Amino acid sequence: MIFFFLFLQAGFGRWGLSIFIPYRREPPETDFFTQDCNMAYIREDRYDEQVTAEIAKHYREILRLLGEDPEREGLVRTPERVAKALQFLTKGYHQDGAEIIRGAIFKEEYRQMVLVKDIELYSTCEHHVMPFIGKAHVAYIPNGYITGLSKIARVVETYARRLQVQERLTVQIRDCIQKTLNPIGVAVVIEAAHTCMQIRGIEKANAVTTTSAFSGIFLKDERTRNEFLNLIRH
Ligand SMILES: [Zn+2]
Repeated sequence: MIFFFLFLQAGFGRWGLSIFIPYRREPPETDFFTQDCNMAYIREDRYDEQVTAEIAKHYREILRLLGEDPEREGLVRTPERVAKALQFLTKGYHQDGAEIIRGAIFKEEYRQMVLVKDIELYSTCEHHVMPFIGKAHVAYIPNGYITGLSKIARVVETYARRLQVQERLTVQIRDCIQKTLNPIGVAVVIEAAHTCMQIRGIEKANAVTTTSAFSGIFLKDERTRNEFLNLIRH
């Protein structure tokens, strides 16, 4: 790679730099633990070896049933990759939303709305095992206690990384925050595009599904609910 870079430098003078493509070393591939350090974060994926092997075995058969040759070069390791991808997409089964919040509860007298808006959301539709992608907006009004803002996003992640329907996901996020933090109210709105609707079935590429769940004051008081809805309006 160094030689390649020098060649570009020699050939294009100072422009060599502008077309230099940084060489990215693939992280070492292991079955159990993959760590990808890039300064900003550490990615840590854990895969159960036995589960990976079993899913891969079934997926090899699925490829064959689809008319493919699972032994051809491009597909040889696909069943294993799919097995890992599926475990990643459903890793929320091993996480507990309530525990995440309980790990960061702080006494605080702030009693106005706390809103975490535009939380990226990646989930998997349980009817078609295809992704639905969108945003979650979560608000609560504290009742003496607050939680870390990142914990709200992590709760969303915990429930999203399962086989889901958007309706249940919305309610689970609300209930988790309501039960563990006991705030005056919780509001959750999710806007998502479902690939099972976009690229198969009725093929409506631009349809966005919105779901909402409210508790406490957001249910009882229209003004509070409208304040939240105004704040999340784009
Ligand atoms: Zn679906």
